[in-house]
Amino acid sequence: MITRPAKAFVAFTAVAVLLFAGRPAPAEIIRVVATTTDLASLARAVAGELASVDVMIPPGADPEAFEPRPSDLAKLKDARIVIRVGLGYDHWLDKLLSLHADKTINRGGVGYVDASIGIPLLEVKGRSLDVTGNDSHAHGLANPHYWLDPANAGIISGAIVEAICAIAPQSLATITQNRKRFLAQLGTSITDWESMLNPHRGAKLIAYHNTWPYFARRFRLDILDAIEIKEGVPPSPARLARLASTIREQKVRVILQEPFAPDDASQLLARRTGAALIRLAPSVGSIPEAADYLSLFSYNVRTLADALSAGPN
Ligand SMILES: [Zn+2]
Repeated sequence: MITRPAKAFVAFTAVAVLLFAGRPAPAEIIRVVATTTDLASLARAVAGELASVDVMIPPGADPEAFEPRPSDLAKLKDARIVIRVGLGYDHWLDKLLSLHADKTINRGGVGYVDASIGIPLLEVKGRSLDVTGNDSHAHGLANPHYWLDPANAGIISGAIVEAICAIAPQSLATITQNRKRFLAQLGTSITDWESMLNPHRGAKLIAYHNTWPYFARRFRLDILDAIEIKEGVPPSPARLARLASTIREQKVRVILQEPFAPDDASQLLARRTGAALIRLAPSVGSIPEAADYLSLFSYNVRTLADALSAGPN
């Protein structure tokens, strides 16, 4: 026998079914825009099916030479969350956001994620950080390549989860579970990567661009110098001669090269000194094998460990 409250409940349910039947699925897909492929990969890892993630800097492009096109402004349309590297690395985003009226994705809004917040930064320049992000130099405030320490993915993904839950609180359980699973997998991988590079602890390296301080600190490597002093300016012959001496004197066996940077200087140094020249992925998609955040590290660690394991040059 059905009691009166139960009857009322059945009636309510029937009405609710009728009301919701014609509506889109209650789990709205959240539009997320990330400035870089690395942040986009982390957003996809934690958001899963809850979000569609778009990226501004194309994979394979030099992020520090990137200039937005009108289509990038269009990408912000209907975006609920914007994720940026900060620290001046994607300084051009401020202009785009100011052209875009939606306050929720502007600085201070619930959908605005500066992924550098909370990261223990390296190479910090001075104490007065320009919080408006108007310093239009990619290394203006500190070294911005912090995603290359995989342990920083915990902080970055935490900020992404917070933004998604502020917009879609009903997704809390799913997204927390996704993040937990991703960080567990990452944690196991970090242990593997550390053990692959452990025999090369303290290995001395030269890099073309100053990309690797976070990676080097995590894996106990010693980057002695960068070939390029200023973005886009090739080294002088005198500087190349000094670097060649450093490579010989310090027994540097490997030179790291960003795939999108000119490699004439690195090639010349490798020929002169016998050091091996290898291309590592500074960002997801800059090398085909680095298809996502995890495979970026797998590729970089394996390539570097192989080069360091090869006999003396
Ligand atoms: Zn850089």
